[in-house]
Amino acid sequence: MTFRSAEEIEHELDQIWEAMNHSIEMGCRHEGILPGGLNIQRRAPGIYKKLTGISLDTESLALPKDRIDPLSHIDWVTLFALAVNEENAAGGRVVTAPTNGAAGVIPAVLAAFARFDASVDRQAIHTFLRTASAIGMLYKRNASLSAAEMGCQGEVGVACSMAAAGLAAVMGGTPAQIENAAEIGMEHNLGLTCDPVAGLVQVPCIERNAMGAVKAINAARLAVLYGNGEHCVSLDKVIETMRQTGVDMQSKYKETSLGGLAVNVINC
Ligand code: SF4
Repeated sequence: MTFRSAEEIEHELDQIWEAMNHSIEMGCRHEGILPGGLNIQRRAPGIYKKLTGISLDTESLALPKDRIDPLSHIDWVTLFALAVNEENAAGGRVVTAPTNGAAGVIPAVLAAFARFDASVDRQAIHTFLRTASAIGMLYKRNASLSAAEMGCQGEVGVACSMAAAGLAAVMGGTPAQIENAAEIGMEHNLGLTCDPVAGLVQVPCIERNAMGAVKAINAARLAVLYGNGEHCVSLDKVIETMRQTGVDMQSKYKETSLGGLAVNVINC
C-alpha cells in the first residue's frame, strides 16, 4: 500500500486470479503436441475428460456429480497444474508465480481450494494470494527465485512454499502455522535440481508442478490441522539452507541442461 491504493491492489489481485483461471481453462481445452521437438503430448484435456466424462466445451470447468474415487481430488490438483504448465510450454498466457516454469503450483492449489469449497469468497482468494506473495518476497530478498542460481528448489520449491502458506492462511492457520507450512513446503524440496530436457520447460517441469502442488497441500494440512505452529526448523533457516545449497550446487544442475535428465533422456 506504499505504492497503490487498497482498491487498486484488490483489483489487481482479481486480475491475477482471473489470469490463473484462464490458463487452467485454456490448458484443459488445448489438445495436441507441445512445440519444441520433444513430441510431448498435452495431457490436461484427456485427464479432464476422464475426470468428468465430458469435453471442456462449456464456459467454465465442471465438476463430476459422483466422485467415486475418494483420492480423485489429487487428480484435480494434478490436472490444474498440468494445464497451466502445458499452456506455458506452448507459449500461452500464465501468471509468473514466482517463475513461468513454476507457474502451475499456486493456481493448482488455489483452484482446488476454490472449486471444492463452496464457502470460498473473493477475500479468501485475496488472502491466499497476498500470503503466498509475502512468502515469495522473503525468498527473493534472502535467497533467489532463479533456477540459474538455485536449481529447481528456487522455482518449484519456492512455489510450493508460497502455495502452502497461502492455503494455510485460508484454512485459518495462525501466523506460526502459516510460517510452518511455508517451511515444510521448502524443506522437502531442498536440493531439487534444474535439468530440463532439450532446454525446454516441459520435462520434468510440467509434472514437477503437479508434484509441487500436491506437496503444498500436504504441507498446509500438516501445519494447520495437525500442528500448533511449533517446529524446529524456521522458515528463515530453510530459506538460508536453500541459498547455501544453491550456491554449492554444480552449475550443470542449474538451468544449463548439461546434467541430470537433460543428458540421460536425449529423446522422449
Ligand atoms: S526443472 Fe528447471 S526449468 Fe523446469 S521448472 Fe524446475 S527450475 Fe524451471
